[in-house]
Amino acid sequence: VDESYKAISRIDDKVKSFLTLDEENARAQAKALDETRDNQNGILFGLPIGLKDNIVTKGLRTTSGSKILENFNPIYDATVVQKLRAAQTVTVGKLNMDEFAMGSSNENSAYQATRNPWNLDYVPGGSSGASAASVAAGEVLFSLGSDTGGSIRQPAAYCGVVGLKPTYGRVSRFGLIAFASSLDQIGPITRTVEDNAYLLEAISGLDEMDSTSANVDVPRFVDSLTGDIKGLRIAVPKEYLGEGVGEEARNSVLEALKVLEKLGATWEEVSLPHSKYALATYYLLSSSEASANLSRFDGVRYGYRAENVESLIEMYKQTRAQGFGDEVKRRIMLGTFSLSSGYYDAYYKKAQKVRTLIKKDFEDVFEKYDVIVGPTTPTPAFKIGEKTSDPLTMYANDILTIPVNLAGVPGISVPCGFANGLPLGLQIIGKHFDESTVYRVAHAYE
Ligand code: GLN
Repeated sequence: VDESYKAISRIDDKVKSFLTLDEENARAQAKALDETRDNQNGILFGLPIGLKDNIVTKGLRTTSGSKILENFNPIYDATVVQKLRAAQTVTVGKLNMDEFAMGSSNENSAYQATRNPWNLDYVPGGSSGASAASVAAGEVLFSLGSDTGGSIRQPAAYCGVVGLKPTYGRVSRFGLIAFASSLDQIGPITRTVEDNAYLLEAISGLDEMDSTSANVDVPRFVDSLTGDIKGLRIAVPKEYLGEGVGEEARNSVLEALKVLEKLGATWEEVSLPHSKYALATYYLLSSSEASANLSRFDGVRYGYRAENVESLIEMYKQTRAQGFGDEVKRRIMLGTFSLSSGYYDAYYKKAQKVRTLIKKDFEDVFEKYDVIVGPTTPTPAFKIGEKTSDPLTMYANDILTIPVNLAGVPGISVPCGFANGLPLGLQIIGKHFDESTVYRVAHAYE
């Protein structure tokens, strides 16, 4: 914990990962742990962790990257925070993010733009950009992020670290400030696959506070890190190496496949034919869910409230107009439109049907193959400011990560070479609740 704060004071004015530090409490907690140390302690005992700022922490400011929650001090801990406490980790602070997890670069934060530790002129990715940057920069040993359409895997790829989006339902969402409830998952960002497996085990499991958390066993994921992938069947979707995917990303995946082949795996090209609809489907569904979820920020229940208003309706309007940033407003408008009567069938309902087709694409491939492999992103990190004026090119970044959320399956990004001095990520996607195989392949490759 001491080393972590030293690194933060040396590095964070450049990288800008943290929104809130909890130094006094963290040190007190570390000291108390030291005093009770015995040989019963688990593997995560005393280790410093950073949390994305949409994971609520009792008494510790939680902003979700938004001005509307600038002074929000939650009155309870998220389930993952309770589980981390049981595992005896120490939370050193809360990490920057795109407002309400909407974004791919951390430039949508109401507070600051986190920078890529490999090159400070570049974005760290998003929305869990600071969760990845803080681990890459050595400020914390590991962190938690959330992934609705790629927000763990994309920044992990851009920052050269390991990030896993678990199967939907593997990790409780209780205390995760909701963006799109049918897609959101909390997951670990770490330096190694082994660390990642330990951290996932600690935060997983059925939770009576989240009706979508799944009643499935939590295996010891580290037991699957055998290095043995002989006979493993890998599918490589042609859509993941085709148009729109950069030369460097494609080549790095082909090189990785050679490594996996040497280790005894085989691979074949397959198709996920509905991938081309994934982006449109995702932005309709996630924005629809967001428009409903964000209705709770009304100036009455939480955080910011506009002043000098003359009526209740005016208070709602002014609070939301002043409290939300442009990207959040854009999504609320899109979502409200697609859910409104007269448009619901044409947009929301249609998108739900396409989501089912996308899910089925994955199920069909997994009948014959153990994992799906491709790039995490079409290109390495881009420059700060490069895409801010055009939301659509920003959205296109998520084209390879989004289908995984729509299908609900697990996916990891592991470092896979460099382009122009910036890291690239290899994405490994598994069957529902088969994180063990995903980890096994990632570890063998790593
Ligand atoms: N970049 C995507 C978006 O803006 C994904 C965000 C996420 O996974 N939280 O919606």
